[in-house]
Amino acid sequence: MEDETGSLPPKSDFSAWYNDVLWRAEIMDVRYPVKGLYVWFPFGFGLRRHTYAILRTLLDRSGHEETLFPLLIPKNEFMKEAEHIKGFEEEVYWVTHGGLTELDVPLALRPTSETAMYPMFALWVRSHADLPIKVYQIVNTFRYETKHTRPLIRLREITSFKEAHTAHATWEEAAAQVETALSLYTQFYDELCVPVIISRRPDWDRFPGADYTMAVDALMPDGRTLQVGTAHHLGTHFSKTFEITYEDAAGEQQFVFQTCYGISERCIAAAIGVHGDDRGLVLPPKVAPVQVVVIPIIMKKQADEVRAAAEAIRAELEAAGLRVKVDDRDLRPGAKYYHWEMRGVPLRIEVGPRDLAAGTVVAATRDGEKLTLERPGLAAAIPGVLTAFAGKLRERAEASLTSRIVPVGSVEAAVEATKTGIAVVHWCGDEACAEAIEKETTASILGTGVRSAHIEKSEGPCIVCGRPGTSTVIARTY
Ligand code: ZN
Repeated sequence: MEDETGSLPPKSDFSAWYNDVLWRAEIMDVRYPVKGLYVWFPFGFGLRRHTYAILRTLLDRSGHEETLFPLLIPKNEFMKEAEHIKGFEEEVYWVTHGGLTELDVPLALRPTSETAMYPMFALWVRSHADLPIKVYQIVNTFRYETKHTRPLIRLREITSFKEAHTAHATWEEAAAQVETALSLYTQFYDELCVPVIISRRPDWDRFPGADYTMAVDALMPDGRTLQVGTAHHLGTHFSKTFEITYEDAAGEQQFVFQTCYGISERCIAAAIGVHGDDRGLVLPPKVAPVQVVVIPIIMKKQADEVRAAAEAIRAELEAAGLRVKVDDRDLRPGAKYYHWEMRGVPLRIEVGPRDLAAGTVVAATRDGEKLTLERPGLAAAIPGVLTAFAGKLRERAEASLTSRIVPVGSVEAAVEATKTGIAVVHWCGDEACAEAIEKETTASILGTGVRSAHIEKSEGPCIVCGRPGTSTVIARTY
């Protein structure tokens, strides 16, 4: 990878910037010869690993258990739930042959795993004591996308689908689980320093086979929102189809109530899009594959001492649990700065002969703030520097989101507001009014029941028909 050919387009040209930064920063290689399938570079995979470690920890600590189901789903199971099939039939890849032999039952590559998991849930659940079930898996799923594909955002192989599936004795317990999922997702995105908006999707945008769908959206720099998580209350749609029942205290068979909720590698696209700048990635410290890069400034004198000091710093910081790299390549310091800035490393430490004499090091955060740190106690000071840096990322991202959320009172004003961000309108809930809004704005109704620290909910006349309406968010979407 040669990172000094040409230059990164400015982030104001977001689409070009995004495509370019993915290979310059070694996140994804788009040259794999199948449309919509991409390759994680090792550096990008490191980012994925640390990001999903946060998600795993959040799920494990809240009573979920990790599992792994097969990739292939038999056609007869896949076709059982009518609404679900309708939602996915145009996107499914089918395996029809084993070698030269046509299979008796064609096998679907999972587009999502309800129909793989729930026949097994029917075997697992016998009595009330078997509930609740809370499992998740992080797997690849396949969808034959016909729209324009884009790395990490619109894929034919989603490589990193975290899907959780739960089963409960009552509708209310399942509804509470949806709330738990949303709370976990809010914590997850807070660790990525990405502010999100939660809303209830309109009925026509529900997950196929759900009672209702809650969604989590992030706002990208081009003013379009990216759906970065969903949580669905499935009611008894699937338990009736797959006969998942338990015996209640009175000895009666009851259908379980289910939920499912997912996050894909879009979470990484959001972190890249929200924080990056004209010089490349800017990574939140918790997920950066390299948190600190140490650059020895080699002059003629004391070259060996400087190298030794850089190594000693690396060893100390690693012992303190930080992810550190020493860049002792034979390159100008400027070329090294450029290299690690592109890759979003949160903190750079420079050590040269003058620093040895002074007993200090010069440190620079990825956003250009310079600090002089005492050499003794360096390992103890760095975590605080990284936390402060994450705080700045979070604040900047929130300010950027807030400035692009506009409450408006007319369709015309919504057209303007959705050019750069999110319009908040009053909508009555009627589908005909929604169609009118979406046609005029070419944006989508994200949802009602909005939850965001950045949006004040209110009641008011629908911007189309004037009947009573509630706060509704509208944006152009990915
Ligand atoms: Zn209306």
